[in-house]
Amino acid sequence: GRARELGIDWAVFDASMQRRATRYLETEQALRRALTCDELVVHYQPLVDVASGRITGAEALVRWMHPTRGLVAPLEFVPVAEETGLIAAVGEAVLRGACAQAAQWRTDGHPLRISVNVSGAQLQDGTFVPLVADVLRATGLPADRLCLEVTESTLVRWATNGRESLDRLRATGVLLSIDDFGTGYSSLSYLQDLPMTELKIDRSFIARLARDARDLHLVEAVLGMARALGLTVVAEGVENADQHAILRGLGCDRAQGFHFAAPQTAAAFGRLLRDSDSRPDLEPTRA
Ligand code: C2E
Ligand code: MG
Ligand code: MG
Ligand code: MG
Repeated sequence: GRARELGIDWAVFDASMQRRATRYLETEQALRRALTCDELVVHYQPLVDVASGRITGAEALVRWMHPTRGLVAPLEFVPVAEETGLIAAVGEAVLRGACAQAAQWRTDGHPLRISVNVSGAQLQDGTFVPLVADVLRATGLPADRLCLEVTESTLVRWATNGRESLDRLRATGVLLSIDDFGTGYSSLSYLQDLPMTELKIDRSFIARLARDARDLHLVEAVLGMARALGLTVVAEGVENADQHAILRGLGCDRAQGFHFAAPQTAAAFGRLLRDSDSRPDLEPTRA
């Protein structure tokens, strides 16, 4: 029939769907165990001041140390956690761990800002705002040293239900970032209405910055818009000195990417902080 005409092989299709469903169930069960066995770890990637190259903050990025699969990336299990409701527990573990770590670095003389990713389900959950307040109280981290990142597409999808949480969080002094900007189809008037403080330009726009004039103009336009809205701008996925130099020329505030450092363990990040104290030249070579 039609499927044959289209070249669809249903037997293969079924088998691959079956494999996906099985993998999904395995992931959910294993994730429940991971939460009770402390298999989730948080890695940290520096955010640097574009002009000086100095570290101003860190983004907390969750990883799963799976007993047989090794280090599992968030894109492989965060969606499963979101669909099964396990994201509340995963998110709480990351938030507590990251804020405790930031408070420790602060005690060590590095008053960094810590950025934590938040999913739509967390925003909509009435217990999230009290949780954030409790974590700040428990760790002693000042509210303005915590930045919560919500992707632009999550904002577009969840803002009606999550809006109250955003307003309450901002009222406590917590910073709010629009993650992966440029991929989520938000409108100017919509952004203007939200209590956000920062915008992160998605790395797909940064990738071709040195080669494609259109991307240069887009990034320039986003910077202008962000300034008009009073938002700080972070460029994501900066991988080379050319991109860094262009962003410096455009007056972008902060950057993050492999050019500066990859996400790493808390211990390695601590060493990076100590090194940067004695080496102001940690600033990457100018192009
Ligand atoms: P994100 O928040 O946009 O985080 C940045 C991602 O870009 C990270 O991927 C990071 O490793 C990667 N990256 C950093 N610099 C570069 C670069 O120069 N080049 C390239 N190609 N990639 C770079 P990661 O760690 O795999 O995380 C992927 C996504 O998973 C994150 O994207 C975030 O949306 C989500 N995620 C991570 N941790 C959490 C969490 O604790 N909770 C929630 N809800 N989501 C999380
Ligand atoms: Mg993020
Ligand atoms: Mg991002
Ligand atoms: Mg991104």
